[in-house]
Amino acid sequence: MIEGTAEAGSPRAPESATKGFGELEAEVIRTGRCTECRACVDLCAADGPEALELDLGTFTFDSDRCTSCGLCYAVCPEVPWAWEDLLDRYDASASEIGHTRFLTSAVTRSAPIKERSADGGIASSLLWYLLDTGQIDAAVLSRNGGVLGPNLFVARTREEILQATGLRAGRGASLATGAGVVTNLDTIAFLRTLHKKDPTSQDRLAIVGTPCQTYTVRRMQQIGVAPAMRINTVLGLFCYEALPFNKVQWQRFEEATGLHMEDISKVQMREELVLTMKDGRTKRVDLDTASLLAAANCLRCTDFTSRFADVSLGAVGSDTGFTTVVVRTEHGRTLFDTALEAGYLTEWTALFDESGRARLESRIRERLAEQTRRKVELAQRSGTKPRD
Ligand SMILES: Cc1cc2nc3c(=O)[nH]c(=O)nc-3n(C[C@H](O)[C@H](O)[C@H](O)COP(=O)(O)OP(=O)(O)OC[C@H]3O[C@@H](n4cnc5c(N)ncnc54)[C@H](O)[C@@H]3O)c2cc1C
Ligand code: SF4
Ligand code: SF4
Ligand code: SF4
Repeated sequence: MIEGTAEAGSPRAPESATKGFGELEAEVIRTGRCTECRACVDLCAADGPEALELDLGTFTFDSDRCTSCGLCYAVCPEVPWAWEDLLDRYDASASEIGHTRFLTSAVTRSAPIKERSADGGIASSLLWYLLDTGQIDAAVLSRNGGVLGPNLFVARTREEILQATGLRAGRGASLATGAGVVTNLDTIAFLRTLHKKDPTSQDRLAIVGTPCQTYTVRRMQQIGVAPAMRINTVLGLFCYEALPFNKVQWQRFEEATGLHMEDISKVQMREELVLTMKDGRTKRVDLDTASLLAAANCLRCTDFTSRFADVSLGAVGSDTGFTTVVVRTEHGRTLFDTALEAGYLTEWTALFDESGRARLESRIRERLAEQTRRKVELAQRSGTKPRD
């Protein structure tokens, strides 16, 4: 079964009527599945109530503090049905790169987006289209923090979407489970804060994020943790790795490459890391060199193409200046087709080779599969035994 976010709009259960620590105990802890990764404990504390503690293999649960938010159950990677359910819903095991309705390469038709975009500006163009046509009220995006830091924020206008255009190569806090699946803690914390600020909000949202963010949003939607059910569009990015924030790691990067962080004006992630320096020079660093410096959790992550997104976007497979587009769900297909028809974007084939669609698709598929294999191998070298 493949459900896009839009058609998956009927939540399994509203918040608080869903599963919580009782079910986690019954399905995971008492059945010996718990790996003591602490995701449930950390998330419970991060969300406020601190109803859970884990010490030397023993859980302490304070039911008086528990708000029945369901987060502990939503983030536990060992819930037996959850992973299979997601794979089934999004047909994510269909191929190495997940389920695909079609693959293409495209570029925005907006000059201001093009000027700031990471690649072809397709993420921002699709968001503009969703906003202009009243399909969303806002989007959860990443901006600022120089070339590195992603700071999540809510964009409500075209201008705010434009502010997020481009690539911040850093990552939010994440948590690897040891099976190639990574939960993005920043995303959960941000979405929960949004919900707490306005629990009655009916705003319809889109989100753009890396594979760990995409997976996290889908897990929250799976059991109805607010406000995930209001997210009707998930645009996933390809991601081989994110660059570290950490000064020590940057020093190692500088020693290995001779390049200094303060001299970098733009970062692009393709089959290699492409750095535009402030003096206009372009420097290329192979991803394996960059991986020496990547965050530990990124080295354990096996999803390159955001398999659970409605539409996945990246550079690999396209000419410079274009975005590779992997349309996965029915909602994603309608979104791409209507935005194209409405003149928000243009396909590479329309500009260069009308009859070359099949060749383009097969080139993209090949490159994405190859990059996915590299990422899985990297994770395996770091001791990860991927799920599925
Ligand atoms: C950390 C990271 C690693 C990546 N690695 C690869 C790779 O190895 N190979 C590859 O082909 N592509 C990679 N990408 C995707 C690529 O860099 C572009 O984001 C993608 O091609 C979309 O480009 P665009 O011009 O269509 O997007 P734009 O229209 O420029 O919009 C970019 C969108 O990305 C979001 N964004 C920017 N930075 C972040 C961030 N750190 N976290 C979450 N969202 C963010 C913004 O909110 C914005 O909405 C990576 C992206 C990120 C964020
Ligand atoms: S407050 Fe939420 S995360 Fe904490 S135990 Fe209760 S349901 Fe789980
Ligand atoms: S989230 Fe981690 S610590 Fe909590 S029950 Fe699941 S496996 Fe155990
Ligand atoms: S490599 Fe994985 S964990 Fe790291 S930022 Fe990318 S998707 Fe997230």
